[in-house]
Order: sequence, then structure tokens, then C-alpha cells
Amino acid sequence: MSIAQNIALIQEKIAAATKRSGRDASSVRLMAVSKFHPIEEIQVAYNAGIRLFGENRVQEACEKFSNLSLPDAELHMIGSLQRNKVKRILPLVDCIQSIDRIELLDEIAKHSSKENFVPSKKNIKLLFELHTGEESKTGFVSELDLEAAIDYAIRSGLFPAGFMTMAPFSDNVDLIRHSFVTLRETAARIQKNFSHLDLSELSMGMSNDFEIAIEEGSTLVRVGTAIFGTRSYGVNQ
Ligand SMILES: *Cc1c(COP(=O)(O)O)cnc(C)c1O
Repeated sequence: MSIAQNIALIQEKIAAATKRSGRDASSVRLMAVSKFHPIEEIQVAYNAGIRLFGENRVQEACEKFSNLSLPDAELHMIGSLQRNKVKRILPLVDCIQSIDRIELLDEIAKHSSKENFVPSKKNIKLLFELHTGEESKTGFVSELDLEAAIDYAIRSGLFPAGFMTMAPFSDNVDLIRHSFVTLRETAARIQKNFSHLDLSELSMGMSNDFEIAIEEGSTLVRVGTAIFGTRSYGVNQ
């Protein structure tokens, strides 16, 4: 199947999953995770209607997306981020979904300050990653630490917008579902303590589990393989 056909099929599945959960189809955004795929394929996905892309490595994201002109499209950083690469990625992205420790916030605040701020950019949104599955290695482990990080971000003048998680790689649907429920319930509790903020973005669900994620409240699904096919690691390394 072509990339355009894959996207159409996923959009149908998203529509069906929202419908059976009593949700509006427009309440879930589809992100195309384009890591390890060339700019030609990104352009094809854009032409097929994708307006949200995700990359997980700074170097690769910069090389590809500074050579593309995709009006109205957003790029999100979804991979674990090193402190010394923050400065480089900030001008290129609309959101960093992988905030997993406080020290990143200092670095982001430093480079988004008035002197360094890129005027053409709107405020960069931040999603806080929660560790919900045994096999994922990144993310905040405790709800208290997560809350402290959000508080710290606000006091640093940054813009927390919600949460992100990765379910375990597993065939066990209950285990996967549990991971998404954990994120949703944690988010709801934290939202109560920050009632003046909008923390409603829940980034959860990938190629193999996005329908379960939608049933559990996902607002943004991150789909790579099911759109672009298998990644050939090594091509961009
Ligand atoms: C690679 C990646 C995805 C996409 O995974 P697929 O299984 O290919 O859909 C989603 N989220 C994150 C954080 C990723 O690194």
C-alpha cells in the first residue's frame, strides 16, 4: 500500500475508534513519525493531508526539516533530548513531547528568553513524559516529580500543554491499556491542581496500539511504521 493509502486507512480507524468511544473524530490528531524516512516521503505524507510530524533525533530533524517547506505543518520533538541539543532544536519545533527531567526546562527557558527568542515562533508547548510501562526507560516515574516539573516550567515562563507516554512493547492488550489509563488518570489529577492551565493534550498510541489509546482518551497518536513502512536503520546514521 502507498503512504497515502496507509494514511487514509489509519484515519478510518481513528474515526471508528473515536465513534465507539463516543468521541468526536476531530478530538484526535494524527502525527506522522518520520524518523529514518527521507524528505521525499515526508512530502508525500504532507500532500496526503498530514500536518503534524514527529522526529526523535535532533540532528536528523534539523537536516530534514530545514530543507522542507510545509506551510501550516507542525513538527514535534518526541525523542529523549540531550541538554546540549536544546538550543538547536528550539527554532524548528512547535512542541517538545519528551520532557523527562527538570534540567531540560532550565535549558529551554534559557534559550527561549527575550534575547534569544525567535520572533517568528510562537511559544513552544511542552508535554511531560510519564513512565507507565515496565519496558520504557524514559519519563518521570513519580507523579510528585511530574507535578514539581510542571510547576517549575510555569515559574520559568514556559508552556506546559499536557502529557506523553509510551506503552510497553507487548501483545498483552490489558498491559497496554493499563499504561494509557495510568496516563489519563494521572493527567486528570494533576490538571485539578493546575486549574488555571490547559493540560489537555494526551499524546499516547503508536502504530500497534493507537486504537486502544484513543479508547482511553488519547488526543494525539504518533504513528510511524503504519504510515511509512518499516524503518531501515542505518540509512541516516
Ligand atoms: C518511533 C516512535 C513512534 C512511532 O512508532 P511506530 O511503532 O513506528 O508507530 C512513536 N513515538 C515515539 C516516541 C517514537 O520514538
